[in-house]
Amino acid sequence: MKAEMVKVTIVKVPIPRSHPRFESLTVRERMVEGLAEGLVVPEGLIAHGRGECFDYLLGEETQVFALKAIRAAAASFLLARKPVISVNGNMAALCARELVELSKATGAPLEVNLFYRSRVREQAVASALRRAGANVVLGVKALESLRGLESMRRLVEAEGIGEADLVMVGIEDGDRVEALRRLGKRVIAVDLNPLSRSALKANITIVDNVVRALPKLKVEVERLRKAGLKNLQKLVSSYDNRRILAEALNHIRRRLGALASSLGEE
Ligand code: ATP
Ligand code: MG
Repeated sequence: MKAEMVKVTIVKVPIPRSHPRFESLTVRERMVEGLAEGLVVPEGLIAHGRGECFDYLLGEETQVFALKAIRAAAASFLLARKPVISVNGNMAALCARELVELSKATGAPLEVNLFYRSRVREQAVASALRRAGANVVLGVKALESLRGLESMRRLVEAEGIGEADLVMVGIEDGDRVEALRRLGKRVIAVDLNPLSRSALKANITIVDNVVRALPKLKVEVERLRKAGLKNLQKLVSSYDNRRILAEALNHIRRRLGALASSLGEE
């Protein structure tokens, strides 16, 4: 079902600041507003829920393994010949401003890429990015097909993702990451699920919520801007994504173990 075919009635009630899940509920509200604005599709809400579940397990904070991935990702952006940031509906609804700031810090343009693509929806996402301060938004015209993908996400802009050597994706499906990798592109994924195909297939996986990770990534890009070429190359070559994913899984395992003990289990 396409977003423009769904009528959404939003009942706005203030979320009390004192609510223990205030931040999570505020983010959820942004998703619902995104649905009403035509940025998000109903399936996007479900994907968000899967993310929330993993965020709960991770402790809803940026963990050390995510910081390591953020450092390698920042170095990769600074070393890339032609980096592009791929934006879907959930990303635009949750962090349009942060995406624009990251784009400005890295010089990587934003490109709209949607699984449930329609003219109305791609325009809605592009407008949200422009309202957030983007001067250029790719992925809304003159699109070509990426080899190895059947869905609408195969459509990319020739001078954008088509030519990119580095693509950053967030809240993304695994087969797209695979297709980008097969075309020889390096992929940075932001994904709360360390077990997802996206997480496993990307070169660098930031296991964190996009709303926390993007501002940190921007700060890291600015911090590393003065680092020499050799240092940047070393940060990238010494990075091991499988080890980072193992650290994320071990973190969840240890955390669940501690929580189980606190509930009285041996
Ligand atoms: P894959 O196809 O890679 O195996 P999937 O089918 O489990 O993934 P998709 O719906 O294709 O999931 O992609 C959504 C992914 O984005 C999920 O892994 C989900 O955990 C993650 N996700 C959802 N919300 C967020 C968020 N706010 N920040 C980061 N990741 C998120
Ligand atoms: Mg999937």
